[in-house]
Amino acid sequence: DILIEFKHVTKIFKGGKVAVDDVNISFNKGEFICFIGTSGSGKTTTMRMLNRMLDPTKGQILIDGQDIQKKDPVQLRREIGYVIQNIGLMPHMTIRENIVLVPKLLKWPEEERNRIAEKMIDLVELPREMLDRYPSQLSGGQQQRIGVVRALAADQDLILMDEPFGALDPITRESLQELIKELQEKMGKTVVFVTHDMDEALNLANRILIMDEGKPIQFDTPDNILRHPANKFVENLIGEERLIQARQNETQVKHVMLTSPISITPEKSISEGISLMRQKRVDSLIVVDGQGNLKGIVDLEDINVHRKYATSIGDIMNTNVFYVEKESLLRDTLQKVLKRGFKYVP
Ligand code: ADP
Ligand code: MG
Repeated sequence: DILIEFKHVTKIFKGGKVAVDDVNISFNKGEFICFIGTSGSGKTTTMRMLNRMLDPTKGQILIDGQDIQKKDPVQLRREIGYVIQNIGLMPHMTIRENIVLVPKLLKWPEEERNRIAEKMIDLVELPREMLDRYPSQLSGGQQQRIGVVRALAADQDLILMDEPFGALDPITRESLQELIKELQEKMGKTVVFVTHDMDEALNLANRILIMDEGKPIQFDTPDNILRHPANKFVENLIGEERLIQARQNETQVKHVMLTSPISITPEKSISEGISLMRQKRVDSLIVVDGQGNLKGIVDLEDINVHRKYATSIGDIMNTNVFYVEKESLLRDTLQKVLKRGFKYVP
C-alpha cells in the first residue's frame, strides 16, 4: 500500500548545487523509513520536499496518489508532522500546553486537546496530574518522553523527523528509540526519520534509504543491507564490526527443526547436502565437532546465500568437523542451542 512516491525528483539550489539527484523511490503506509548518509548527502533536502518546505526543481512527489505540488503548503504541513533536532519542551508552558502545541496551532477545540493530552501521557505511563506541571518539575527522562509523544499528538498519519535525538547521550537515545518505535507501530504511523547514525537506523527502520551525493545508493531492510551491502560505500557506512557481527548472526536461525539425526561430511557438495536435508526433512543443520561442541547452525537460506563461492558444505561453515550423529550428542547440543535463544520446533 504505497503512501509516498518520488518520481525523478531533483533539487538544484541557486548556484547550481545538485542536492538531490533523480530520486525514484516509494514508501508504504505504516513503514518506518530511515534516511542515512554522510553530512551533505541530501537527506534533509529530500525530507523537506515532502511537506513543501522545499520544492523540487524537477520531478514529482505523490502522497496518497496526489501530486503535492498541487496542494497548499500550509494545508500540507497540517497533515504532516515535522520534528527537528530539538525535542526539548517549552519551559514556560505546562506539560499539557507542550503536548498540544501543534493541535492548538491547528485550532482543535479545547476538549479535543485535553483528550489527546491525556491519551499521550497515558501512552508514556506518567500520571495525569503531571499535565499541569511545568517541565522543570519533571525528571529529564520524563521530559524527553513527553517530547517524543508531542510529535504524535496532532494525529497526523505521516511524521517527518530530522535527527530528533542527535544531541542526546547514547543511553537516553536508545530508550527514546524504543519508545518512538513502539508508538509508531501501535498507532500505525508512517515515519520518515533522518539520521547519520547507523545503529539508530538499524534499530528503527523497516527500510533504510542510504544516500550519497543526493542519490539513493541502496534501499532495503536492515537485514538485507547488513547481509548484502550494495558497494564499498555502504560497507564503510555499516562498519567492519557490524559486518562481522552480521555474518555471525546469519547462522542464527530462529527455527531449528530436526526430525532425525543426520550425518554429513564436509566434503559433500552443496547439492548433495541440500538433497540430504530435504530427504531427512530437516531445514537446519546443527554443526558440532567430535566432542559435541557447537560449531554453528546452517539452514537452507545460508546455503543459498553462500552458494556463489562455496562448493562443499564444509566451505560454508569453514570447518572440517561436521556431523550430528549420535542421538545423545544431539540432545546435548540442542540444549546448548536452546540456551542461545533458538527455538526448537519438533
Ligand atoms: P544532509 O541533510 O544529508 O546533511 P542537506 O540536504 O542538508 O544534507 O544538503 C545537501 C546539499 O545541499 C549540501 O551540499 C548542502 O550544502 C546543500 N544545500 C542545502 N541547503 C541549501 C541551500 N538552501 N542552498 C544551497 N545549498 C544548499
Ligand atoms: Mg540534514
